[in-house]
Amino acid sequence: MSVSANFAVPPRLKQAADAAHALLRAALDVVLPPLCAACREPVDGSGLCPSCWSKLSFITRPYCERLGIPFTYDPGPGILSMEAIADPPAYNRARAAVRFDEISRALVHALKYGDRLDLAPMMGRWISHAGREILAEADALVPVPLHWRRQWARRFNQSAMLAAAIASESGLPIAAGALKRVKATAQQVGLSRSERAGNVQGAFKVPEEGKAAVLGRRLVLVDDVLTSGATVDVCARALNRAGAANVDVLVFARVADPARTSI
Ligand SMILES: [Zn+2]
Repeated sequence: MSVSANFAVPPRLKQAADAAHALLRAALDVVLPPLCAACREPVDGSGLCPSCWSKLSFITRPYCERLGIPFTYDPGPGILSMEAIADPPAYNRARAAVRFDEISRALVHALKYGDRLDLAPMMGRWISHAGREILAEADALVPVPLHWRRQWARRFNQSAMLAAAIASESGLPIAAGALKRVKATAQQVGLSRSERAGNVQGAFKVPEEGKAAVLGRRLVLVDDVLTSGATVDVCARALNRAGAANVDVLVFARVADPARTSI
C-alpha cells in the first residue's frame, strides 16, 4: 500500500498501530527493566535502588557558609573554613547536594557518559533543595559550558541538563549564552590543584551577545562536580568582569576532604 503525504490513517489502523507500539514497549520493559544508576540492579522506576540511596551522603549544615564544605563539627553560625579565608574564591557562595563519593560519582557518570538523562530531574531536585537560599535571591542560571567540540562529541552538556532541571524546580530562567568556553581544555581529572587552575585559565568569556544577560544580574553557575573549584572560579571571574551583581555556584556533588575542613 502506498501512502501519500495527505493520507489519513483510518482510526482502526491507528488504534492497531498504537496497541502494537504499547506491546513493544511493554516487551522492551521486560527485557530492559530500569536499572539502578550506581549498582545496575533493577529498580522500580527511579534512578537508585534503596541500598544505594541509603549510602548517598547529602550535605547539610554545619558547612562553610562560603564554600559549602561540610564541617566535621559545628563551629557556630557564619564561621568560614580555612580555605575560604586563605584563598577566597571569585564566587560568593557554593552549595552542593551530596558529597562526591562512589555513589554520587556513579550518578554523575551515568548522566555524563551513559546517556541516563532521566536522572537529571532527580539530581536537579536535590541541587535545588541544597541551594534554595541562593535560588531565592537569584535572577538566572548559567550552566558551565563545554567547548563546542566536546559538546558535539557528547551530544549534550550535563551542566545544561542539570540547569534545566533546576530551572523547572525554581522557575528561574537559564542565561545559556552568558558564558562561552573559548579554549578547549584537557580533562581536569588527575591534575593537581595548581595544574587545574592553569588548565582552565582564560578558558571562559562572556561573549558580546551575552553581556546584557550578565550586567547587574545575580547569577548562579551550575556544574555537575566541584573538585578544586578552579573551573567555577574562572567562570565567576569572567562573569564578575562583565559586571554581574553576584555569582553563586550550585553543583550536584563536591569533593569534601574532612582532613582539610577543620579550622
Ligand atoms: Zn543500587
